[in-house]
Amino acid sequence: MTFLSDVEAELAEIEAAGLTKRERQLTSAQSAHIATTSGDALNFCANNYLGLADEESIVAAAKDALEQWGFGMASVRFICGTQTQHRELEESIAEFVGTEDAILFSSCFDANGGLFEVFFGPEDAIVSDALNHASLIDGIRLTKAKRLRYANADMSELRARLQEAKDAGARRIGIVTDGVFSMDGYYAPLDEICDLADEFGALVIVDDSHATGFVGEHGRGTHELLGVMDRVDIITGTLGKALGGASGGFVAGPRPVVELLRQRARPYLFSNAVAPSVVAGSLRALQLARAADDARAQLERNTELFRSLMTEAGFEILPGSHPITAVMFSGEDGARRATEIADAMLERGVYVIAFSFPVVPRGQARIRVQLSAGHSEADVRACVQAFIEARG
Ligand SMILES: *Cc1c(COP(=O)(O)O)cnc(C)c1O
Repeated sequence: MTFLSDVEAELAEIEAAGLTKRERQLTSAQSAHIATTSGDALNFCANNYLGLADEESIVAAAKDALEQWGFGMASVRFICGTQTQHRELEESIAEFVGTEDAILFSSCFDANGGLFEVFFGPEDAIVSDALNHASLIDGIRLTKAKRLRYANADMSELRARLQEAKDAGARRIGIVTDGVFSMDGYYAPLDEICDLADEFGALVIVDDSHATGFVGEHGRGTHELLGVMDRVDIITGTLGKALGGASGGFVAGPRPVVELLRQRARPYLFSNAVAPSVVAGSLRALQLARAADDARAQLERNTELFRSLMTEAGFEILPGSHPITAVMFSGEDGARRATEIADAMLERGVYVIAFSFPVVPRGQARIRVQLSAGHSEADVRACVQAFIEARG
């Protein structure tokens, strides 16, 4: 039994380092107000940016779909797993983010896992931001392309890496970045990235999971916010965050790119089609997102209020305007303080999460707060009050 004792030793190491993740169990639907096994809480750590996770008409659409379309597909898309509504959802996503077409995956993790190997081989180069999401890193690893990295949002380093790729004679060069960096709430400088891409003849590939549905005037994403709707080549994203938060991911881009993915992307070819009720609910979520100007305005107000009240109260928050707000606890004992404060806040009925090394750099522990359109002004004020009381 040396295998099991090795595994137990590894678990003990994780525990000893204070890195064990314990999953809190909800006893309610996902929402701004939740019930958990340790009591009711105001939820400030979901990716439920538009508050759609338990929205009535989405739930109704998913229920109706169970009747009309059944429970499961029991097939990959190309065998017999494509209903008309799967295509409808793909077209609807493409229309929303402003590309010619889109293709669904079981998750954005799978979308990113399948994308790169289809387009990048040993004669190509991929230049990626050092803070990119794990799924981008894994997807890029699956290629035989030359891999180059630049420090987070550092445009002079990006330029140097692009030059390196060009000097190495790369056939294709892809620049890969998150639209929003999830630990900081910072936007990638997509306008500058597109300028460099033009200069070096590179493709721009953006994972906009923390933006689709609510960032930009019409919620189309970071490319809308930064005025580069027509200059980003490929967008990946998730249905598991703002757009109802169930599951599913996509790649959106030019029609031939989507068509080749249908022929070659392994997680698409060899994994089950997205469940009918999730497709129907997501279609409804997109419809709502299109008309969600009020929710986006509420989200913006909540974010501004939270950021300004926290600053007034003397907390250090990373600058910006995204609903992800990092409340910093720097220095030696920052990790411990962040954890203690998050625990004390939960006792006061406010659920937030502390992050420390290795998820964020050493000495930069933080509590990440995520605002939602589902929060009221009173909810936001209650969250700030809990921070103040927990700080002691
Ligand atoms: C959440 C997230 C993903 C994963 O999305 P899933 O659909 O849950 O697999 C991928 N990339 C980024 C940037 C994310 O934030």
